[in-house]
Amino acid sequence: MFMPFTFDCKDIGYDCSFHYEAAQKKDLMPRIRIHCRYAHNVFEMKPELEQKINESIKEKT
Ligand SMILES: [Zn+2]
Repeated sequence: MFMPFTFDCKDIGYDCSFHYEAAQKKDLMPRIRIHCRYAHNVFEMKPELEQKINESIKEKT
């Protein structure tokens, strides 16, 4: 399956190699939330962080 949406955790400022790909953009956020909780102790995602994540999601063409 083609996975055009990609996210790299380093793009939001963490020294972290987490990389995730998904077929749909909406599939990324739940996975990123879980990653942030377990890897970076972000238990409550602030709107600013969510926006930063949204902006750092790339779409392959
Ligand atoms: Zn990370």
